[in-house]
Amino acid sequence: MPMTDRVIPLIDQRLISLKTALPAQHVAPTGLLHDSLHRPLRDLRISVTDRCNFRCSYCMPKSVFDKDYQYLPQQSLLSFEEITRLAGQFVAHGVQKIRLTGGEPLLRKNLEVLIAQLAALRTPEGQPLDLTLTTNGSLLARKAKGLKDAGLNRVTVSLDGLDDAIFRQMNDVDFPVADVLAGIEAAQRAGLSDIKVNMVVKRGTNDHEIVPMARHFRATGITLRFIEYMDVGATNGWRMDEVLPSADVIKQLQAELPVVPLEPSAPGETAQRWGYAGADGAHDPSLGEVGVISSVTQAFCGTCNRARLSTEGQLYLCLFASQGHDLRSLIRGSASDAQLASAIAHIWQGRTDRYSALRSSLPADVGAGGRRVEMSYIGG
Ligand code: SAM
Ligand code: SF4
Ligand code: SF4
Repeated sequence: MPMTDRVIPLIDQRLISLKTALPAQHVAPTGLLHDSLHRPLRDLRISVTDRCNFRCSYCMPKSVFDKDYQYLPQQSLLSFEEITRLAGQFVAHGVQKIRLTGGEPLLRKNLEVLIAQLAALRTPEGQPLDLTLTTNGSLLARKAKGLKDAGLNRVTVSLDGLDDAIFRQMNDVDFPVADVLAGIEAAQRAGLSDIKVNMVVKRGTNDHEIVPMARHFRATGITLRFIEYMDVGATNGWRMDEVLPSADVIKQLQAELPVVPLEPSAPGETAQRWGYAGADGAHDPSLGEVGVISSVTQAFCGTCNRARLSTEGQLYLCLFASQGHDLRSLIRGSASDAQLASAIAHIWQGRTDRYSALRSSLPADVGAGGRRVEMSYIGG
């Protein structure tokens, strides 16, 4: 069947959530909380909007996210105060890194206000958080300085190619690549550190952009990361034959720009690191590094320390989960901070999720194409 004829049934997974009861037993935060597979809670991703100005076919295909698509109403969204209050409880349990995402997070009005509130949080050891954001870069040229001034530390920009025609086709709203590149430069000028560029690689669509992208970002201080096209959500019509395994990405690089493997820099890191080699064949730090995120071919569930908070306050324990745990009803009810912390602890302690590790052995209605929440709703 040709691609365009595929009919993708859409079930609104946003409506399916688990009611979170106020726990009878308190669990006081100690700064270290393990799930049932002994994975600590360290990383919180917060989706601040389910809207986006791009229509990347692997995430928000136009056929589904059209003019009739029902985005969340304003009153469903967590307010900045609600987000900060919840984030504070996650931090008390050991979260050290917060990533704002979406949808397109820079579409959320006054995002700088939220960033300033989150930047004021401290870990139980009194340390500031690693506060970062993932963006499609379209509004970054205008906003980079304000974000930095508000307390943002780092930024990750998604960019799927340098070829303008390919990029316009992939974002599907005819957005020019030059404007995203200008956004990246603005982020550098604003002093945002450790800038990363994420490229989703789709075999047959943008795999010929791998080497040009690597050449462009080598020796710039920016780390390019290649992401395997994933079966997230239920609308992108994912097929395994469109996944280019990271091993093939590395092979392409080796042929033109030799790289050597590097040690992971942090536990639970999603990307495998490779450093550009100098003339002596060893890593030359002045040339920088690239990363590969092999979510499909090499699952990293064993060290997954990430929780996701949806735009309307549902806690998801996995990118591929089909149900969230409703925290909004608790904060809009009468829950105290201690009760919120206990509820989060009970949910995380019961976590068994490891979708990628199980992907190939799952039944068809749970595996690829199964009922899952969209990435634009829980954030990448
Ligand atoms: N709109 C922002 C952006 O594009 O950076 C933030 C949200 S987006 C959902 C977060 C990340 O998920 C982006 O880097 C995007 O490329 C990635 N992503 C979305 N759908 C994907 C898929 N099917 N496979 C792999 N990565 C995906
Ligand atoms: Fe928008 Fe990001 Fe999804 Fe592309 S990947 S449609 S930019 S949310
Ligand atoms: Fe974590 Fe789920 Fe991804 Fe595994 S599949 S790494 S548990 S988000």
